Amino acid sequence: MKAFATLVLGLLAIALHAQSPDLGGVKVTLADPSSQAAVTAVLVTPFQLQINVAPNSETKPQTIRIDLPNSGPKAWPAADVVVRDAGGNALLVRRTGIEWFKLLVPLPAGVMSCVVETLPPSGGWTKPTTEKDRAIQDPTSGVKMRIAKWHEGRVAALSIRFDDSHPTHLSKAVPILDSYGFRGTFMINPGASEPGSRRVSEFGQQRAAWAALAKQGKHELANHSAHHRGGFGDVDMEAEIGEAAQAIWRMTPGRSRLTALNLGGGTRWETTRSLRYYLDKYHHFDASENSTGMDDSYGNRVENFRRILEQHIQRGLWCRIHYHYIGDGLSSTEANFRAAMDIAKQHQTDLWIAGMADIHKYLTERDAAKLTLIKSDAQQLSFKLACATDAALYDQPLTVEMAVPPAWKLPNVVIKDAQGTVIPAKPGKLEGADALRFDVPPREADYSINVTP
Ligand SMILES: [Zn+2]
Repeated sequence: MKAFATLVLGLLAIALHAQSPDLGGVKVTLADPSSQAAVTAVLVTPFQLQINVAPNSETKPQTIRIDLPNSGPKAWPAADVVVRDAGGNALLVRRTGIEWFKLLVPLPAGVMSCVVETLPPSGGWTKPTTEKDRAIQDPTSGVKMRIAKWHEGRVAALSIRFDDSHPTHLSKAVPILDSYGFRGTFMINPGASEPGSRRVSEFGQQRAAWAALAKQGKHELANHSAHHRGGFGDVDMEAEIGEAAQAIWRMTPGRSRLTALNLGGGTRWETTRSLRYYLDKYHHFDASENSTGMDDSYGNRVENFRRILEQHIQRGLWCRIHYHYIGDGLSSTEANFRAAMDIAKQHQTDLWIAGMADIHKYLTERDAAKLTLIKSDAQQLSFKLACATDAALYDQPLTVEMAVPPAWKLPNVVIKDAQGTVIPAKPGKLEGADALRFDVPPREADYSINVTP
C-alpha cells in the first residue's frame, strides 16, 4: 500500500513537472486571474527568462506578474534586472519600494512577449576575495594575521535605523542614542512640500536641525526618497532618488557620498531601468531588505529583539532593525525603545554598533581586500594590504587582527606604515593566543611589524 502511494505521488510529481517547466524558482502568472489569456515562460539561461502570452479571446493588454527568487542558490540579482520586448526596447516595470524581486509588467498594446534578464554591472560582477586571500600564516615569524570579520574584531554588527524623518527622531531618538553612545541611521525624505499635494514635508519644517545633525556627524543620514510617494516613470523616479541624494551630499560636504537607499514600504515605483542604474549613479546600496521592524504593533518587540540579536551574535551576522516614530502613543513607546537599547548595551562588547553605510563599506572593502607577506624573520615581518574599492567612497577603516608567537611580548611590538608612522594597536586574544588589533585605511599600502626583546 505504501509503495503504491509512493508510486502515485511520484507519477503525480512527474505530471505536474511536465506542465510547468523548471523556471529555477521564478513564478510567472497573469495579474488578472480571470484572464482568458495564457502565459508561458522558458528559462533560457539562469538569469534570462523568455515569456510569451497567447491572448486567446482577450482583447485588453495583459499585465504579467513575475516573482524572482530572492534567497537561496538560485536567487536573482534583482537590482540588475530589466525587461525588454522582442525588439529589445526596455519595458516599464512596476514594483514596490522594498520588494524589488517582485515585478509587474503591463504589456503595451500589441506586445505579446518579453524577456526578463539581468544586466551585468559596469565592470562585471566582482568575485569576493577568500578567507585565505585575507590572511597571512607565516611560519618564519610565527605570526598569524587576517582582516577581521567585523570592525575592531567584534563578533557581529548592529544597525539601528529610523525611517521618514519624523520630528521625534530629533527630539527623542537622537538624544537617547547619544546617551547610549550608539550611532543611528536616519532615512530621510528631504523633498520640499509638492504643489498640489496635501503631504507636508516634516523634514522641511526642521531643515536646520537636520543640517546641524548632519554636520555633527555622530549619526548617519540615508536616502528614503525625496517625498515617500513612489516614482512614476524614469524621470520622476530619478528625481525622487537624485533630489534626496543631493540634499544629503549638500549637508555632508567633504565626506564620502556613499549612503544607504530604502525606497520605502507601501510605495510604488515604475521604471524601465534596473535599480542598479540609480544605485550606481547616486552612490547608493540597497538597504531595504532583511530588517526587523520595531513598531509596537508587530507585538512583543523587546523580547523579539533580544532573541534575534543573540542569534545574529551566535552566527556572527549583521542585525538590522528599524523604527518609525518614537514616543508614547506613536509607533514605538519611549520605554520600549529604551528597553531595546538596554539589550544592545548588554551585548555591547560583542557588537559593532554602526551606521548602515559604515557596515556596508566594511563588508565591501573586506571582500575586495588581500594581505600578502613581503618578508619576515624571527623578530619582524612586512606585508602588503591591497584593497580594490574606490577610496573616495569607501573610507571605513579595516581592522587587522594578528596573533603573535609566545616569545613576543605585546608591549614590545611596534607596527608602522610605509612612512614610518606608528599605528596604535589594542591588545587582546585571537583563538587563545596573545593578539593585537589595529585599523588601516582601505587602500593599498605596505606595513612593517617589529618586536624588540
Ligand atoms: Zn518609510
